[in-house]
Amino acid sequence: METEIIKVNPTGFDAKELEGAGEILRNGGLVAFPTETVYGLGGDAKNKQASKAIYAAKGRPSDNPLIVHIAEFSQLEEIVREVPDSARKLADAFWPGPMTLILPKNDVIPMETTGGLDTVAIRLPSHPVARELILESGCLIAAPSANTSGRPSPTKARHVAEDLSGKIDCIIDGGDVEIGLESTIIDLTEDIPVILRPGYISLEDVEKVVGAAKMDPGILSEDAKVRPKAPGMRYRHYAPKGNLVVVEGSKEAVIKQINSLGEKGVSAGKKVAIMASSETASCYKYGEVFAIGSFEDEDEIARNLYGMLRDFDTKGMELIYSEAFETPHMGRAIMNRLLKAAGHQVITVS
Ligand code: AMP
Ligand code: MG
Repeated sequence: METEIIKVNPTGFDAKELEGAGEILRNGGLVAFPTETVYGLGGDAKNKQASKAIYAAKGRPSDNPLIVHIAEFSQLEEIVREVPDSARKLADAFWPGPMTLILPKNDVIPMETTGGLDTVAIRLPSHPVARELILESGCLIAAPSANTSGRPSPTKARHVAEDLSGKIDCIIDGGDVEIGLESTIIDLTEDIPVILRPGYISLEDVEKVVGAAKMDPGILSEDAKVRPKAPGMRYRHYAPKGNLVVVEGSKEAVIKQINSLGEKGVSAGKKVAIMASSETASCYKYGEVFAIGSFEDEDEIARNLYGMLRDFDTKGMELIYSEAFETPHMGRAIMNRLLKAAGHQVITVS
């Protein structure tokens, strides 16, 4: 299949430019599109065949459910059994935006879209192209991230093309995304809201709106027996092909340890990459140094993370050493992704 690429200027486009993509979706085809978090791979959420095609194009395990993207709050009421007060409050506070809510589903959305679960994940994105595509197609759009399963989520249209060219009908290129990390997923089917996947919206942000809330113990625990509730958080993910190790501790000790590991790698003839803050990048003497952003600008670190993990593969990096990144606003979101990418290989130094 030939994948059509449509270039759209997100800050000034005409709805007409999305007519073709809307038609593809209505006919059961697949369209990748930009959102404020990462690029999504969209299909008609009510069409079983479209959902199956999404799993096939990504090579995604069929028990890992998709997120349904809507353009108006009233579309949520169409697909769930009830709308709790907490959903209205969270939607008022954070939609349109990088938040996904889990609610009990009714029969409008097929089990193929929800990976066999009787709950459904719903998000109302703020990206103008995503929103217009939903309206133009007349569909609710089921969309996971538009990457091959296991690879880092795409933050540029080029990343989508790397993974899915020839496997989907169309890619809408709306430039680089703004946030670069997937949405915060909040489960509203328990007594209190539970964060199943940390993201740009933090636990503290959620607590301010609904009072009590908590993190899913499955994403905090190192114990493999405590399984994350979101199926997608159970899989190895984001990992570059090279061996990625995170080094954490005091700044001086981390620099010393990474330099020592880097020296060893380089003398063994390996291609070594160092992932560092822009403040500390010049302290590293071995291998190729990649500055991810300022320690003071966690948004910049989030935006660059996935692209950098992909660059390590493009450049054939074999050993990758990364600093740990403290991110008070996003809390665990960045370290959660980085530790998953590293398969939880961490060296602590003091
Ligand atoms: P992606 O859009 O690729 O980031 O994947 C969607 C994420 O949402 C995955 O981690 C899924 O496991 C999670 N998810 C989707 N629907 C549900 C649901 N009904 N219950 C729990 N997690 C869900
Ligand atoms: Mg994903």
